[in-house]
Amino acid sequence: MPADPRMPVLFIGHGSPMNAIEDNGWRRGWAAAADEIARPRAILCISAHWESEGLAVTSGAAPETIHDFFGFPQALFDARYPAPGSPELAARTRDLLTPEPVRLDAERGLDHGAWSVLAAMYPHADVPVVQLSLNRQYTPRDHYALGRALAPLRDEGVLIIGSGDIVHNLRAIDFRQPEPLNWAIRFNDQAKRLIMAGEHADLIDYHRLGPDAEAAINSAEHYLPLLYVLGLWEPGEPVSFFNDDVFAALSMTSVRVG
Ligand code: ZN
Repeated sequence: MPADPRMPVLFIGHGSPMNAIEDNGWRRGWAAAADEIARPRAILCISAHWESEGLAVTSGAAPETIHDFFGFPQALFDARYPAPGSPELAARTRDLLTPEPVRLDAERGLDHGAWSVLAAMYPHADVPVVQLSLNRQYTPRDHYALGRALAPLRDEGVLIIGSGDIVHNLRAIDFRQPEPLNWAIRFNDQAKRLIMAGEHADLIDYHRLGPDAEAAINSAEHYLPLLYVLGLWEPGEPVSFFNDDVFAALSMTSVRVG
């Protein structure tokens, strides 16, 4: 059997849960990104919306759709993303991360950081999906190193997706004022420059980057999935951006590696 081509890696700026059901340019951008990639055997998603004590992976064969938000229209609560899970990929992920202890969680479903994006990318929900949690005990450097450890999956037909937002500060958002805030644009641009240059040290130790970074990454869970994607970059690999937009204090900027 021919070997699988090496899969690219994606960071998706997911923004509002409404992107799951609204037709807009960002959603079309996610669909286009999927169209440009060979069909994956399975997807491993690291989402901002699953933080845990210790590491865990979803291992159920039929993960439910989690509606982990409130104050949205009923249509969003009615949405389901019935992709199968993959107990095999869950076990493989646990093995790759040895000696880190990884809990297999057969009860946990897919959070909206995963399914809102995948509903646009793979609308038939026919690619198995596994999620890996964000371990609250980790430093940013630990998250980056964990990303590197997942690299063999790229040669096994697995599409790894980090889902968050490079800039995410809900406290700074006034939804009547969608114009991007100056510090949000500045940090998004700075992050893109460092990503393109392959200069990951400052992106890992982002506290060095000053007040723009502090405001953009005020609660780090939306930023940390990016570090997995950067950890998977091999020197010399192409990097490109899509959905490169900032509104208010949220960035939709998405990254393709490979
Ligand atoms: Zn989110």
